[in-house]
Amino acid sequence: MKKISKVLFAGLILLASCSKKDLTNNETENPIAGHRQCATMEVHNRMMAEDANYAKKHQEIEDFTNRVIESGNYRLVNGVIEIPIVYNVVYKTTAQNVSQAMLDAQTAVLNADFNATNSDLNKVPTLFQSSIGNVGIRFVQQAVVRKKTNKTSWSTNDAVKKSTQGGVNPTNPAEYLNIWVCNLGNGILGYAQFPGGAAATDGVVLLYSSLPGGSAAPYNKGRTATHEVGHYLNLRHIWGDATCGSDLVNDTPTHNTANYGCPTYPHYSTCSGNPVEMTMNYMDYTDDACMYMFTNGQKSRVLAVFAPGGPRSTMGD
Ligand SMILES: [Zn+2]
Repeated sequence: MKKISKVLFAGLILLASCSKKDLTNNETENPIAGHRQCATMEVHNRMMAEDANYAKKHQEIEDFTNRVIESGNYRLVNGVIEIPIVYNVVYKTTAQNVSQAMLDAQTAVLNADFNATNSDLNKVPTLFQSSIGNVGIRFVQQAVVRKKTNKTSWSTNDAVKKSTQGGVNPTNPAEYLNIWVCNLGNGILGYAQFPGGAAATDGVVLLYSSLPGGSAAPYNKGRTATHEVGHYLNLRHIWGDATCGSDLVNDTPTHNTANYGCPTYPHYSTCSGNPVEMTMNYMDYTDDACMYMFTNGQKSRVLAVFAPGGPRSTMGD
């Protein structure tokens, strides 16, 4: 019998506490305004509970990230890191078979948001302007894989990433960011796998209608991809998935919980110190039109995964 580690136990508790919240949204097929749903933590907690190796690796990556940030030993690169994207479009209907123009628009949104060239960056309030992080990652479409399926919708069980289950296997996840575009059920807009998980399931899954110009308003400006790629590059939700929790980043304010919709500025936290919450951060749960910044601290955390020995150091050479 395997010994249950502390981390595994913590994972089980998290899983148990999460399932309660999920139940309330199970009947919802489509995303609804004011209720952005990302399933990254649900998948993370499942992996922590089921896979002791992932739990161990996850802690190692956290320790590594802290060491890199402390020492400043980031990879020596001139300018930006370039990440090739493989889009895996798994569709049943014509609408789900998103056009090349929509994929191009999605890549453009990722490039704008990760290089602080998004046109709404000027909305960042004065209080947070010095915190704006230009992450400096360029995304380039490498390939598009399209596959027709009989499946009406997909869940967070990663079947969409497996050809044996009607999905598409990822292409070379050590070098490419795989993005699956499909009809996710239960009102979920997307989910990502944090660094440290199995290569076979590495990447990001997006609801097809969350792409720019899709039908999932107010989540149809491509920011679900920005948020999920943030997770893929080791960023946590800004409220730390707990009441006044930590996102492991120093320059983001402590949030009570997730913010939805488009909060009026300033929105004050009731956590210690009553800071103004950074509701416009991509790692909150606000509408696409109301999130438009990463911070310098988030940038440091992202760049650490590309440092020599880091979990994504094989990418972007
Ligand atoms: Zn998320």
